[in-house]
Amino acid sequence: MDKYIELYKEFRKKLKAFEYVIWLMSWDQETEAPNGSVEYRSKQFQVIAEEAYKLESDPKYVEAIEKLYENLDQLEDEDFKVEIKKANKALRIVKKVPEKEYIDYLVLTQSGSHIWAQAKQKNDFDMFAPTLEKIVAFNKKLVKYLETPEMKGYDILLDMYEEGFGVVDYDLFFNKIKEDLVPFVLEVTTNNKYKFNRKLTKSVFPSSKQKEFSHYLMDVFKYNQNKGLLKESAHPFTSGVSSVDTRITTHYYEDNLISSIFSTIHEMGHGIYELQNDSKYDDTALHGGTSLGIHESQSRMYENMIGRSYAFWKVHYPKLVEIFPKQLKNIGLDEFVKFVNQAKRSLIRTEADELTYSLHVLVRYELEKAMINGHLKVKDLPKKWRSLMSQYVGKRPTTDKEGVLQDIHWSGGMIGYFPTYALGSAYAAQIYQAMNKDFNIDEAIENNDIAKINAWSKEHIHKFAQTKTPKEILHIATKEDFNPQYYIDYLKDKFNK
Ligand SMILES: [Zn+2]
Repeated sequence: MDKYIELYKEFRKKLKAFEYVIWLMSWDQETEAPNGSVEYRSKQFQVIAEEAYKLESDPKYVEAIEKLYENLDQLEDEDFKVEIKKANKALRIVKKVPEKEYIDYLVLTQSGSHIWAQAKQKNDFDMFAPTLEKIVAFNKKLVKYLETPEMKGYDILLDMYEEGFGVVDYDLFFNKIKEDLVPFVLEVTTNNKYKFNRKLTKSVFPSSKQKEFSHYLMDVFKYNQNKGLLKESAHPFTSGVSSVDTRITTHYYEDNLISSIFSTIHEMGHGIYELQNDSKYDDTALHGGTSLGIHESQSRMYENMIGRSYAFWKVHYPKLVEIFPKQLKNIGLDEFVKFVNQAKRSLIRTEADELTYSLHVLVRYELEKAMINGHLKVKDLPKKWRSLMSQYVGKRPTTDKEGVLQDIHWSGGMIGYFPTYALGSAYAAQIYQAMNKDFNIDEAIENNDIAKINAWSKEHIHKFAQTKTPKEILHIATKEDFNPQYYIDYLKDKFNK
């Protein structure tokens, strides 16, 4: 086996270097690169991506993975076993999907987001429908190609984004949301006529000042600026490549003070996760978050449970007032905390608040499931979208731009991705409860000791990188199986106040 281990590691080293170059190019593209450089860069990018693909599909590399997988019991290093299992799972596409069909699909999804963007701009679903039909058709075929006796249908797609979570798990989760949360949210959002001080909504908050506060937040959260940094981009994101380089972005809107604050905290949650991965995984394929859901649980816990808490603003609101003395004059702590925790019905998922967010995901989950199972045709999507939105969120879109065309995901072939967003919030509530049993979180926040929260998260979640599945991580952190009741209780408790 030594021969294959050596071979695998040789390829891995090269692939890591390619991954780094590709990562750096896309980071540059999203943050610093001038607009005029697009074509030149994409020419270079194509060459690099092709070389990387050649490496990944090299018969010697494939053989090494297969041999190691066949002889897993001979491998001593447990982490390495996990890595080989993952590598072998990734090979199933190469092995089971006809190459031509797969390449055609990649080309289709490449242009898909472009067509989607135009259709969205023109509010014209018919323009996007033929592309989406092809994407859905391919995914139905993909499911057939990858089917095993243990796993079938939509489960195959769901498992790609959240290992071990299929329709059975998600149905339990979303049924709970439907039965317990939907009526509660509809009730809470019916009678909120509260009018906030106009200064909060009508003032100008200069970017340079918001930036000052973002950097203050990096210190508060102990975001290691020797190994990470904060820049600006159109849509905030986190991009990490190792435990010594994890970068985040935010976006400043001068007419909106809180958008950049919560984007920065959200992305720091993602970033701290990756920075706190054990550094021994940096040179392996195991660095990073274990799943989208667990990743999102970290960002949402930092953003919503810490960042929107009363305890947090009790300590940090004075600093915000110091930076914006005119804009926040006469606005007390209580009103500000209320302001950052507003709940209202909205049409757009990315603008939805903590209370209503998972209902937007519920709509998408039901639609995806019906499409993949063949119970819903693409042409009937807009109508079905509108009716589910009014049923679950209590608001019916009048245009497709604000309805079925709002998200980029499906145009890029990402079917099965959305449910992880809601799962992340539910994990967060369960993890928070477990942490709160070990120490009083509010007290740590009031003592400006976020380091204590970071340390707990490192020990129970972050250090494992991708060596544990989401279900295993949840068990390590909470000593329980996934239980969405924590999430429902958390939201009801918070929004009843
Ligand atoms: Zn996120």
